[in-house]
Amino acid sequence: MSLRVGMGYDVHRVKAGRPLVLGGVKFASDWGLEGHSDADVLAHAVGDALLGAAGLGDIGEHFPDTEEAWRDADSMQLLKAIVAMVIAGGQEIVNVDCTVVMEEPKLGTHRMAIREQLAQALGLSPRRVNVKASSGEGMGFVGRREGVAALAVASLRDAD
Ligand SMILES: [Zn+2]
Repeated sequence: MSLRVGMGYDVHRVKAGRPLVLGGVKFASDWGLEGHSDADVLAHAVGDALLGAAGLGDIGEHFPDTEEAWRDADSMQLLKAIVAMVIAGGQEIVNVDCTVVMEEPKLGTHRMAIREQLAQALGLSPRRVNVKASSGEGMGFVGRREGVAALAVASLRDAD
């Protein structure tokens, strides 16, 4: 069996009045993330991990932030388009693991919803999608609440 692994990393700046969307789940928050799309930092990191594992470049190449078509785009739709590219390339997703690095709010009760949303977009059982939460411990851009980061790893195998 041929196994491929890819990693993804993304960061977006915190901005008042923007929506906070993580893995397709909207948080009740008076601040969100700045970006051309809906700035779903977690969906972007997962997308990059998949593209990386498949050897298909990165999310910015496929969905440039200079293109009007992707303004305020639903990143979960972009993620589904990436999954379709991976499958078209003869691969299937084995699992995805990811970490949101955010000072507040805590993922808490949203964690399972995020896991389910991502699993649905990826066409996987939620057991194959893990979502972890970390913080900046008061240090750096995350700790100063200037931004939110996300990391992801995805593994693929040849489809039968
Ligand atoms: Zn992004």
